[in-house]
Amino acid sequence: MEENCIFCKIANHEIPTDLVYEDDTVAAFKDLNPVAPVHILIVPKEHKLNLSQYKEQDEKLLGHMLVTAAHIARELGLEESGYRVITNAGPDAGQSVMHTHFHLLGGRKLSFDKQ
Ligand code: AMP
Repeated sequence: MEENCIFCKIANHEIPTDLVYEDDTVAAFKDLNPVAPVHILIVPKEHKLNLSQYKEQDEKLLGHMLVTAAHIARELGLEESGYRVITNAGPDAGQSVMHTHFHLLGGRKLSFDKQ
């Protein structure tokens, strides 16, 4: 757990949040400022800055985060309409919270900025 990390505090139940899923290694909760009707954040409980810090030994955890995203999407009825899972790593991607997180977005047509 990293001091002053908001997502560590959420994952550690120190800050109340709209939790939608939790197990030993990950937590998922509603984004505070949703950009789509469904906007869930999936975070690892272990603090790491972003995707750049993961290595081969983390493949199981990263796979689990994606399977968790698919599970939540299924639970929320997004399978047919579709959804997107993204992670922002570093300044050019606009990462604003310095604890790894996957965004699960759905419930509307999503545009994609490829520039
Ligand atoms: P990113 O820009 O990829 O780092 O995404 C960070 C996301 O965290 C943004 O979508 C914020 O709205 C969201 N966020 C920041 N603080 C909280 C919080 N306390 N609870 C839920 N979501 C948050």
